[in-house]
Amino acid sequence: GAFPGVARPSDRALYAGLCPDPGLLLGAPGRLSGEPAAIDSLLDRRARSLGPSLSISYEKPLHVVRGFMQHLYDADGQPYLDMVNNVPHVGHSNPRVVAAAARQMAVLSTNTRYLHPLLEEYAEALAATFPRPLSACFFVNSGSEANELALRLARVATGRKGTVVVDVGYHGNTTTLIDVSPYKHDGRGGRGAPDWVRKVALPDPYRGLFRGAASGPDYAALLDDALDALEVAGHPAGAFLVESMLGCGGQVVLPEGYLAGAFRRVRARGGVCIADEVQVGFGRAGTHFWAFEHQGVVPDVVTLGKPIGNGWPLGAVVTTPEIARAFHDGMEYFNTFGGSQASLAAGMAVLREVAEKDLQANALRVGARILTGLRELQGRHAALGDVRGLGLYIGAELVKDRETREPFPEAAGYVANRLRDLGVLVSTDGPDHNVLKVKPPLVVTEADADLLLEALDRILAEDAAGPDRPFVSPGTVSGRPGGRARPRTGRQGRPRSRRSRPEGR
Ligand code: PMP
Repeated sequence: GAFPGVARPSDRALYAGLCPDPGLLLGAPGRLSGEPAAIDSLLDRRARSLGPSLSISYEKPLHVVRGFMQHLYDADGQPYLDMVNNVPHVGHSNPRVVAAAARQMAVLSTNTRYLHPLLEEYAEALAATFPRPLSACFFVNSGSEANELALRLARVATGRKGTVVVDVGYHGNTTTLIDVSPYKHDGRGGRGAPDWVRKVALPDPYRGLFRGAASGPDYAALLDDALDALEVAGHPAGAFLVESMLGCGGQVVLPEGYLAGAFRRVRARGGVCIADEVQVGFGRAGTHFWAFEHQGVVPDVVTLGKPIGNGWPLGAVVTTPEIARAFHDGMEYFNTFGGSQASLAAGMAVLREVAEKDLQANALRVGARILTGLRELQGRHAALGDVRGLGLYIGAELVKDRETREPFPEAAGYVANRLRDLGVLVSTDGPDHNVLKVKPPLVVTEADADLLLEALDRILAEDAAGPDRPFVSPGTVSGRPGGRARPRTGRQGRPRSRRSRPEGR
């Protein structure tokens, strides 16, 4: 009598446990068991037809069928607040971007060997967002291609191959970019760095070699040794490649003075400074359009990807006229898809949308609300060791002990999976896999920020409520005695951290 006619998909397991699928009695495919079976079937087909090195997010994989603005919708029609995907910068399926790309695709989309005003128009509009002398654009298809080209520009301009990178940095998936990405070549399956690459310590003011907001110059001084080592190895530095905020490094905001000190050292030895803005550009930092501006520097080369086309495969390199001229050494640069009219139309629509909807200001406002909220939560939940970020690029470190700062990766994985169950998507990263990453489309609202904060508060409070929880945190700030993390296993008996840790994103 008291059974509802309609139930939430999230209650499916409950009702499936109480009664057989009525669909079977009615001779119609049942919705009671439908979606889990569909997920299993997709997983099986994926295992048969795709390379196994592709990862899947979350303990319970998400079967998404629709995205609109800051929400993703699963096959049951359940919405998820997307607090992690920074590619749909101006919103999933943003109507303006979709219409612009579709309209152009239906008329003309070819390569840059023909004249078309969109190419100049977009290059001018993009260059106008940069401080001088950055003004020469190249268009490519991805962040990896942008970084590949940036390294080529530096090598041709300086005649040198030596490259300094920051520890745990990630710059892309090509052979050369794995060589300059410690996140990959020092990670699982990695084979180390070649002798033309030297890395400097992660300038992490919370748990790094030097601590505190004033640690920038100390970290920058570490470039001296790296530059010396490259010279000794016979590969003087041609380039310093650095993310303007460190993504895989754990959403680290660079300490003040870091890039100024590092760039000065690199340039004194004749090297070129490349800022990788693939993750963090286009207003995400809130205070500035480009995150490097927050450090008060102007790089020699800037690489762009992800948000630039809101999902359309577009990337760009912006450099000085001098470096662009040096690169013009007789070899043509040709990129079949880079700079096609459809991709330029998508890119132009993104720039217009950011400007007209004032999304940089929104990033600052909503980001501040999330940061303030997280800092309040820190007062109640001891597991929240550090909270940091700029605009809508935010990280929260989970620790076992505030004093020792011992990382708590199990807690981060658990929280990300629980948030997913509550309809909020984040991911985890950092060298210790204990940082919750928040980097949503810039269209999120203050109400969305509150939803994230309430869900996180609930999860951390639930956890603190009893030892029967999947992980037991070290206690609330008021001093509840601690417990031990219990590792859990995923669907196929793998450690759950494999599912909850997307790579290189
Ligand atoms: N640089 C950074 C900082 C990135 O995060 C990524 C992608 N995760 C890349 C470069 C590579 O971009 P793509 O995946 O588009 O090749």
